[in-house]
Amino acid sequence: MEDLQSGLQNRKLSLSTLPEKGRSLLATRDFYPGEVIISQEPYVCVPNNSSVSPQKRCDGCFTTINNNVLSRCSRCQLAFYCGTACQRSEWKLHRLECEVLSSLHKYKRKSLTPSIRLMLRLYLRRKLQNDKIIPSTAMDNYNLVEALVAHMSDITEEQLVLYAQMANLVNSILEWPGINIKEIAENFSKFACNAHTICDSELRPVGTGLYPVISIINHSCLPNSVLVFEGSSALVRAVQHIPSGTEVLISYIETAESTMTRQKALKEQYLFTCTCPRCSKVGQYDDIQESAILEGYKCKSEKCGGFLLRTTDGKGFQCQGCGLIRDKEEIKRITTEIKLLSEDASKPSATCNYQEAISIYKRIEKLQTELFHPLSINLMHTREKILKSLMELEHWTEALAYCKLTIPFYQRVYPAVHPLPGLQYYTCGKLEWYLGDTEEAVKSLTKAVDILRITHGTNTPFMKDLLMKLEEARTEASYKFSSKE
Ligand SMILES: [Zn+2]
Ligand SMILES: [Zn+2]
Ligand SMILES: [Zn+2]
Ligand SMILES: [Zn+2]
Repeated sequence: MEDLQSGLQNRKLSLSTLPEKGRSLLATRDFYPGEVIISQEPYVCVPNNSSVSPQKRCDGCFTTINNNVLSRCSRCQLAFYCGTACQRSEWKLHRLECEVLSSLHKYKRKSLTPSIRLMLRLYLRRKLQNDKIIPSTAMDNYNLVEALVAHMSDITEEQLVLYAQMANLVNSILEWPGINIKEIAENFSKFACNAHTICDSELRPVGTGLYPVISIINHSCLPNSVLVFEGSSALVRAVQHIPSGTEVLISYIETAESTMTRQKALKEQYLFTCTCPRCSKVGQYDDIQESAILEGYKCKSEKCGGFLLRTTDGKGFQCQGCGLIRDKEEIKRITTEIKLLSEDASKPSATCNYQEAISIYKRIEKLQTELFHPLSINLMHTREKILKSLMELEHWTEALAYCKLTIPFYQRVYPAVHPLPGLQYYTCGKLEWYLGDTEEAVKSLTKAVDILRITHGTNTPFMKDLLMKLEEARTEASYKFSSKE
């Protein structure tokens, strides 16, 4: 591990062991908002192509372009490339992978999910490094994977069985003498709590990767840094001033949720209890209030805006502002209706038909408006879904209205510098500009740039595109302004 420590020292970082938390990454100089603290190429990664996904992604850069332009490996038929550059960069690993995959039986090829492929690649890459075909470095070697936590004693019996089955499958594909099946199972458990979902600039998932140094960074629900991806490279950027000696922290989950929901998510997937400044407020009055706003019910009085807590007799929920009580049965009735509609929304007929999805989600929205506090997170998520479908259908005017509806929620639940509000301002700005409201578009795009230049940097094609749009909108706005005079 000394190697890693000196590798980190060059980046003004240090590996440390903190009580309760284990391995942690500390800054050894001040970092400022927008600065890249650390970046890492994946030890292994895989695009989330499945046998059923119509759109395939390039194995190298994860881009998705017209399938006719993407070239498929002629031997195994399973790897796709956007061009010769990506094919060349992946060749050393894929040559070995291709040998394994192309000799597979048809029925086994069907079982090649992204996580199985990721595990195969882990072993193939380790072999290539052992054989010195791929060089090892301080930041890129299998020891780093070995050092990751597996939480084997904390996982359920069910998960253990599943990992054992998957390990057997990997073993039967590789057919290497002396391979340790128990170790493969343990590595699946490592994937579950360490592998990262790789997202594009707009935070849409595109694949999965293992970044053993980035994995050292611990979680906080009030993080000082953000993890973003450029292609398959992971970059951690400061979103706040991080003084020398401070721990670098990112968030593993959706931070807008209530404390109980966040803690549950962290416990279930990452098997630890968060003790960040937000989580340590659990049970305190302002935390109870925040949870009641995010997940609780609305006051019967339209003008009130108070939040509701369960009455001591358990028969209803009382507004903490005006004292009015909402009956448990009435709440139960609306909740059941919403549940039934949500089931309809997840049926294939709705997931494939945006118009149908919109009509169901609008009915859910109406019921949720009756049921929940006006700043409810459930309502926000429903409106996000309606917005997504409206964008797909190119119903721009209504999409803009929904985008604007979500902004006050975003402003309330996310810190000032966070990718999600930045992206929402971007969507808003694009729609305003398209619909001819250039002045508003300039305002929204400026807000988007102010946030995203910190979280995303300014060098990616995505950001260059945004900066160019803002420039064009500004020019158009000043032209409109001068022609009015
Ligand atoms: Zn590519
Ligand atoms: Zn191949
Ligand atoms: Zn927390
Ligand atoms: Zn009230």
